[in-house]
Amino acid sequence: MERTLILFKPDAIQRGLVGEILGVFEKKGLKIVGMKMLRMTPDLSKRHYAHLVDKPFYADLEKFMTSQPIIAMVLEGVEVVSVVRDIVGATNARKAAPGTIRARFSNSLSRNVIHASDSVETAKKEISNFFSDEELFEYDFALKPFFYAGDEE
Ligand code: UDP
Ligand code: MG
Repeated sequence: MERTLILFKPDAIQRGLVGEILGVFEKKGLKIVGMKMLRMTPDLSKRHYAHLVDKPFYADLEKFMTSQPIIAMVLEGVEVVSVVRDIVGATNARKAAPGTIRARFSNSLSRNVIHASDSVETAKKEISNFFSDEELFEYDFALKPFFYAGDEE
């Protein structure tokens, strides 16, 4: 089944939004298969945001993401990458669709509370940047038949 990487950015932790945002994913029926708090290093930031290092805003982004601890999480579910991206909403929270996490909890292009992988390929790379195989878990929800029909997996 698909997996995606979520990062609770420093603003989510400082503003006490972690529980509420995580609750959105849990209630959606997505499975937590990895979770840790860490301090992002400049090195890890450059790997994670490799496609952005040449952008004018990158210096501020790295400074922000390394300024405080963050929480990294891997979620699993059917088509979880696109499902989570849609729930998270557009990068610029001022333009994010109503009801999305960024629309609800941020009004900023940069301090937008959460990161989510943008494709299945990216997710695989991003997950391996943050988690070793031993830090990721395989288990079934006891109520699995109430989350998906058998032909959906
Ligand atoms: N960002 C920013 N200014 C910009 C574009 C992006 O500060 O003009 C930050 C913002 O925090 C964003 C992150 O860089 O979440 C990664 O950018 P990306 O384009 O990958 O957006 P995302 O995938 O997070 O929606
Ligand atoms: Mg991105």
